[in-house]
Amino acid sequence: MALVALWGCGRAGPGGAPREPAPELPSTFTVRGRLAQPAHVRWSLVGAQESAPLAADVTRGVIQRALEAWGEASGGRVGFVEDPTGSGSDLRFSWERGDHGSCTPFGHDTSVAHTGPMPLAGDGGATFVHLDAGRPWREAGAAQGPGLYATVLHEVGHVLGLGHDGDMDALMFAGAGAGAALETPITRAELDGLATLYGGGEPGADDLLIEDAHGGTLLVLHGVARGGVVDFALLDVDADESAELVVWRTDRAGHGSVCIYHLDRPAHLARTTGPFLGALPLALPVFAARTPAGQSLLVWQVAEGLRQARVFDLPRRGLVPYTGDLAGLEPLADPRRADLDGDGELERVRRGG
Ligand SMILES: [Zn+2]
Ligand SMILES: [Zn+2]
Repeated sequence: MALVALWGCGRAGPGGAPREPAPELPSTFTVRGRLAQPAHVRWSLVGAQESAPLAADVTRGVIQRALEAWGEASGGRVGFVEDPTGSGSDLRFSWERGDHGSCTPFGHDTSVAHTGPMPLAGDGGATFVHLDAGRPWREAGAAQGPGLYATVLHEVGHVLGLGHDGDMDALMFAGAGAGAALETPITRAELDGLATLYGGGEPGADDLLIEDAHGGTLLVLHGVARGGVVDFALLDVDADESAELVVWRTDRAGHGSVCIYHLDRPAHLARTTGPFLGALPLALPVFAARTPAGQSLLVWQVAEGLRQARVFDLPRRGLVPYTGDLAGLEPLADPRRADLDGDGELERVRRGG
């Protein structure tokens, strides 16, 4: 799967100043995977440079600066070293034109760059970032067009495992990476995502903590409970016999969204599914329940004697209306406890702070 950055969606606020996300809202970062060894990612700039829009040392300098920004943002938990030979690289940057290999071709839509899939341990652990050589890059003197630094910063977010964020102010917004701004910051949503994936940061009231049966912290999900507008439960929503963390919002700004955090054992964030916008009603209490057949539901009461629910249909359709009988269904007694690692003891999720 190639993820793309689009240009034309500038992220500068009034007067060109970068805007920070509204402070009271939860982070909406998404995760597509997690690097097994983030501290020493070997990178190189490969391919023919003669037809590149920028001199190799300029391109290399911009890449270096973006990689350093991510390293700093992570407090050194992720780090990059240049592999001058290119032979043993985990991450290869190259300029490409039009049809190239098995990628989505450049030049037929607004995409200016894309990143390869998350590296799997079995394939040598390598991935790539392709940059469209056919664009008028700002660093090459173009008055209009994408900025290479902003583009690389966004694409390296994908390399580190971040997916797109629906927040237009986030670096990982689908249209943000190569917008009009040459310089662009890593925003709080990405810092929350990065700390959730790779650690760092003190847990607080904005965070959800997953604890073992003895109260030890296994995982901190940063920023996902910010503002007190979320509810959450540990539910098996994909029939893999291990619970996922399900977080939902029924406040107006949350669009009735549901986001699913898939954990691997013992407790890392492996990836997210969603957010599924409009899955839930606004301003009604929602509770978790299980059908006699073992399906996980999110249920709400529309009026006296009238309930509605959504059932999870992953990975296909997300959350779909549940058409079975809801009358006698009881809310789960303790939706915030589940056995996540199969050791027979119950882990729990709670708000930090
Ligand atoms: Zn992207
Ligand atoms: Zn490509």
